[in-house]
Amino acid sequence: MSQEILEANLKKLKTSLEQFAARPIQNCIKGKWLAASDSSTFSNYSPIDNSKIGEVAAGTVEDVVKACHAAEEAFDSWASISGKQRRELLHQVADSIEANAEKIALVESWDTGQPLRFMSKAAIRGAENFRFFADMAPNARDGLSLPAQQHMNYTLRQPIGPVGIITPWNTPFMLSTWKIAPALAAGCTVVHKPAEWSPCTATLLAKIIHEAGLPAGVVNTVQGVGEVAGKALTEHKAIKAIAFVGESSTGSEIMKQGAPTLKRVHFELGGKNPVIVFDDADFSRALDAVVFMIYSLNGERCTSSSRLLIQKTIAKDFIEQVKKRVFALKLGHPLNPTTEVGPLIHRKHQEKVASYFEIALREGATIAAGGKKADLEGKGCFIEPTLFTNADNSMRIAQEEIFGPVLTVIEFEDEEEAIEIANSVRYGLAGYVWTGDVGRSIRMGRDLEAGMIWVNSENNRHLSSPFGGMKSSGIGRDGGDYSFDFYMESKNVCIATNVHSVPKLATS
Ligand code: NAD
Repeated sequence: MSQEILEANLKKLKTSLEQFAARPIQNCIKGKWLAASDSSTFSNYSPIDNSKIGEVAAGTVEDVVKACHAAEEAFDSWASISGKQRRELLHQVADSIEANAEKIALVESWDTGQPLRFMSKAAIRGAENFRFFADMAPNARDGLSLPAQQHMNYTLRQPIGPVGIITPWNTPFMLSTWKIAPALAAGCTVVHKPAEWSPCTATLLAKIIHEAGLPAGVVNTVQGVGEVAGKALTEHKAIKAIAFVGESSTGSEIMKQGAPTLKRVHFELGGKNPVIVFDDADFSRALDAVVFMIYSLNGERCTSSSRLLIQKTIAKDFIEQVKKRVFALKLGHPLNPTTEVGPLIHRKHQEKVASYFEIALREGATIAAGGKKADLEGKGCFIEPTLFTNADNSMRIAQEEIFGPVLTVIEFEDEEEAIEIANSVRYGLAGYVWTGDVGRSIRMGRDLEAGMIWVNSENNRHLSSPFGGMKSSGIGRDGGDYSFDFYMESKNVCIATNVHSVPKLATS
């Protein structure tokens, strides 16, 4: 049965793949589909079987400059249309994403190797992102009334200007909408630079936005290499802010590149997130969540719980159960509905993740499950879901973001030690706590160094809650009004009631 569904999915995908193979993916600048200014392209491959999907325009500095000018030209009129009109247009984008959700999910799975079961949800979440921020558009400019004794202060918010949005290859469609939707709702225009390893759904999104009737130049998409197209975007003076999702080291580069033009930056970066399981936790719910939060989405997820901190009193039993689950995970073709873990995004990333198997053994940890590359009929960038045990916090497998289906287990004695281990990494994106003790959950929420803490829950998203990281995991927060704080300027207007005495100079 699942084989039949796989065949049916491949059939549905055929037309899209033929289109991608027939001609290079182009840039979308000022509503026009264009090749790179020097006609250069790069090749894009599917990690499922390493087959070529097609060629992609390698956006040049000239292309980026053109896109930035288009966004600059479109800004005034986009910023001045009513919030209600903006809401309607963004809902149309959401409608169209929903209507195309199956295609988006299939293309995303083929391009990134992510199992379809997760990409179907991610496509729908893309529509939700647009709907959520569409409904906020009419009130985005609202401010505060701050009356003082002799003055009236009030605030208002205005869109910051054209913005650059640079996205990574993990769940690229959903992440792009998470940035583009609030920028548009705020009244900003956009130049989007998608990741070079996952260009396909970015072009579908550009088409959807264009067809939904957004004016030309409001959203421009330039494909290409980070060090060329991405860099040029961060350096362009028309771009007032950069929203970036990607690796911490790239965030540092972008900060340097944007310094001469004093770019406002919003960074969502890497993580090495702990899931801490105490012996008073609900064992089976914690087990489900631990396995889900590292082995779903191929472990290529910024909020994945890649470190399991387990209390010594239950460590043996818990690790045994995790191990059983890891062996039972269904590795396979991402378009097969039963597949839980697919191939990693790219040959180079497969090599990077696999290099940690050797590192783990050298450091004295145990590979309790997995620890090898895998394939599908001899092809693809697969690796076996992997479990490292007998690890300690000084090891690289406990400190570095591996970004694959790889879990490192560290045992702890008590709450104090759990916090010490959890916080002794450079990252601070998310933390997960499993305990039956309410007081402890409050203490952990206070003491863990992470931007987001989930207690007795997997990563459960609420779109108005702040999303973002501390330390090397990021700068700034997204979600609800937090997004508008980034994409808008807050202005204060202070008006005197004409009763205070104005200081006088040179009156005699
Ligand atoms: P990456 O940093 O290599 O690339 C991200 C994007 O930046 C790509 O579009 C790339 O082309 C571009 N880029 C590269 N160099 C650039 C430069 N010098 N100037 C401008 N742009 C440049 O990241 P990746 O490998 O694509 O994505 C994986 C990383 O993203 C992981 O570290 C993951 O944790 C992180 N991530 C974080 C979050 C979060 O919310 N914190 C969410 C998703 C992914």
